[in-house]
Amino acid sequence: MNARIYFDHNATVPLRPEAAAAVGHALELCGNPSSVHAAGRESRRMVEDAREQIAGLVGASVANVILTSGGTEASNLALRAARAARVLVGATEHDSVLAAPDRADLVPVDPNGITRLDLLERMLSAEEGPALVSIMHANNETGAFQPVSEIADLCRRHGALFHCDAVQTAGKMPVSMDALGADMISLSSHKLGGPQGVGALVLARDIELDAILRGGGQERRRRGGTENTIGIAGFGAAAEAAARDLPAEAGLAALRDEMEGAINAIDPEVRIFGAGVERLPNTSCLAMAGIAAETQVMAFDLEGICVSAGAACSSGKIQASHVLGAMGVEAALARTAIRISLGCGNDMAQIRRFVAAWGRLYERRQSVASAA
Ligand code: PLP
Repeated sequence: MNARIYFDHNATVPLRPEAAAAVGHALELCGNPSSVHAAGRESRRMVEDAREQIAGLVGASVANVILTSGGTEASNLALRAARAARVLVGATEHDSVLAAPDRADLVPVDPNGITRLDLLERMLSAEEGPALVSIMHANNETGAFQPVSEIADLCRRHGALFHCDAVQTAGKMPVSMDALGADMISLSSHKLGGPQGVGALVLARDIELDAILRGGGQERRRRGGTENTIGIAGFGAAAEAAARDLPAEAGLAALRDEMEGAINAIDPEVRIFGAGVERLPNTSCLAMAGIAAETQVMAFDLEGICVSAGAACSSGKIQASHVLGAMGVEAALARTAIRISLGCGNDMAQIRRFVAAWGRLYERRQSVASAA
């Protein structure tokens, strides 16, 4: 039996040993970080050390790191708590951004999923009061990068706040608050090898936020509730380890390109979404027309390979991905898209095993089509 191959790092990254060790240590402490006695101070130190490690990953100041329960809460905080008269969100954003504001206008993208800057500028020019714009750094399904510094410039010129969901880039490539030019960015621990259920909203400066979770005044009154010390310790350790391992992440492009080249040699008509633009080195989103994404995911799972469907599944009903829909991909083809997202534990032998499995599925499709 072949060992399992994990190609779903954009869904969650395996826990790093450094994070596991930090979690183990945190489990042995018992103080509440708000308590003034020695046990409380020990917990507080652990939280503040982790905050420093997280700030270090993105070049932020520690006072501007707000610890949350994950990327979803971070984006909800940015979109619900910042003061703005209207909200503009990219059409290919993650659901945690799309669903956060009570009302938002969608900023269209081009066929590669890149923000239409001309349309964003037109929307920002409308005299409807200061806006909050939320556009991600790289897309979780296709890996396509958004032109974030141009977006930041536009926002600055129009007096708008700019929030950027950097959940898929932090820990996979260098991310700097300064270079992004965003006012706020969202991070998620489990996307960079920390535990699930912890994340951060990082601010470029002290931006006024009306807390969503109100209570004990933690996180400088911006997020109430006793800190998840265990998760935070793991997040901090993972952030530090991720910063060290960035060069290895860049090397994943060679594996991804080899895979796409080999699949393209089997089926020259295969559609690889976002292939024409700069993408995350680890991500590939491709369609095997005629076979539902769920069927492909199950077929690969039977071969011991974990990939994910590009299509979202909600309440038992398979829906075409809104990301591919916004890019103008027809729904029937979008329902056949799968996502392969690599990580540092993957190697060329695994890529070859996957390509062979992909080829077998493709042959089956061809023989069914010719028998029909
Ligand atoms: N933003 C993006 C781009 C994501 O891919 C995800 C997770 O899939 C999230 C936000 C949500 O992060 P979390 O799982 O920490 O809530």
